[in-house]
Amino acid sequence: MYDVIVIGAGPAGCTAAKALAEKGYEVLLVEKFKMPRYKSCSGVLIKKSMKLVKNYFGEAVPESAMCTPTDNRGMVFTNDAGKEYRFEQEGFNVWRSHFDGWLAGKAEENGAEVRDGVAALSCTEKDGLVEVSLYGQKNYTEDARYVIDCEGVVGTLKRQIAGQYARQFAGKITGEVPGYITTYQTFNEGSIDLDPHYFYAYLQPELSEYDAWFNVKDDLLVLGVSVKDMDKIGHYYESFIAYMEEKHHLRIGRQTKEEKWLMPHIRPGCRVDYGVGRIIFAGEVAGFLNPMGEGISAGMESGYCAASAVMEHFDNPETVREAYRQSTENLKSYMQRQWSLVGGMAGTFSEME
Ligand SMILES: Cc1cc2nc3c(=O)[nH]c(=O)nc-3n(C[C@H](O)[C@H](O)[C@H](O)COP(=O)(O)OP(=O)(O)OC[C@H]3O[C@@H](n4cnc5c(N)ncnc54)[C@H](O)[C@@H]3O)c2cc1C
Repeated sequence: MYDVIVIGAGPAGCTAAKALAEKGYEVLLVEKFKMPRYKSCSGVLIKKSMKLVKNYFGEAVPESAMCTPTDNRGMVFTNDAGKEYRFEQEGFNVWRSHFDGWLAGKAEENGAEVRDGVAALSCTEKDGLVEVSLYGQKNYTEDARYVIDCEGVVGTLKRQIAGQYARQFAGKITGEVPGYITTYQTFNEGSIDLDPHYFYAYLQPELSEYDAWFNVKDDLLVLGVSVKDMDKIGHYYESFIAYMEEKHHLRIGRQTKEEKWLMPHIRPGCRVDYGVGRIIFAGEVAGFLNPMGEGISAGMESGYCAASAVMEHFDNPETVREAYRQSTENLKSYMQRQWSLVGGMAGTFSEME
């Protein structure tokens, strides 16, 4: 029997597991993939993320998690009218598999039991406990006083939990996952006339249905587009490549990798689902995501706040979620302000203003 089972070893889950374990709570962190698991990501750690790593993990991000150029110097953002905005800020350029693997290792060092290759299939609350059904080599169950669900964007488990709780907690949880944006990016050998220390985002509607981007990882040129309608990936990607060839002398040699992923479609108001009963949501599955898909800082901060609320109100589950909601108020208002800023600069996001 665990005090807390944390589901998902991304930034949210690892931060929650580490915070609980170091205070002596019995924690099980389960991750459905073998670690270090792959996560499609631009891997930009903004200054806030770097600060949170130091605060929560007591160390700076190790060299082993970084790719070149190791320092990210900010973001250059071109709005739908072609106007360029430059935001200078120190940051790091990491591979997510190594970064998240390092975070999970820290959770383990501090006493969390980490089981990778194990998926949580369902959660059922009864008699003051949550029974979590797990699948690794076989099906089995584990019990905990609380679950912190940090499963990331897709929300399969969250929908199962919502179904389970629908009658008991009618109206308190919708189980809605707010729709998705599909991301598509390629890694390429080649050349371009842009400074590799920056992350470039393009919001012109002819280049994507959301945003298009360029950055550099270990000398590979990463080019991506995000869409609402998956069938349009090819069309937007080709338009973006043509634009980059013309504007920035992009020359692609060999493509080494391509990948598709999802991110939550954040809507006006930035709705957050805090959880239900003894199950708390943190990170993307709760709805935390900043503009241009910056979600590592929000994942870590919400994971930490969820763990803190559980620890402070361990014997009083009724107050855990409210304490969690209150402690993430600043995070939510930061997220709303960021979206509103972007909404004011680009028609693509004007509904967020
Ligand atoms: C293309 C792209 C680029 C991005 N670039 C950046 C960037 O540069 N900087 C930035 O800050 N953010 C970026 N983001 C966003 C960022 O990746 C996410 O916001 C962040 O990873 C969310 O953290 P999380 O812990 O909530 O979820 P995740 O990191 O997704 O972790 C969730 C984990 O849960 C596991 N899991 C899921 N279901 C189960 C289950 N049933 N049982 C067990 N385990 C399960 C998953 O395998 C995963 O490891 C980007 C996103 C995309 C798609």
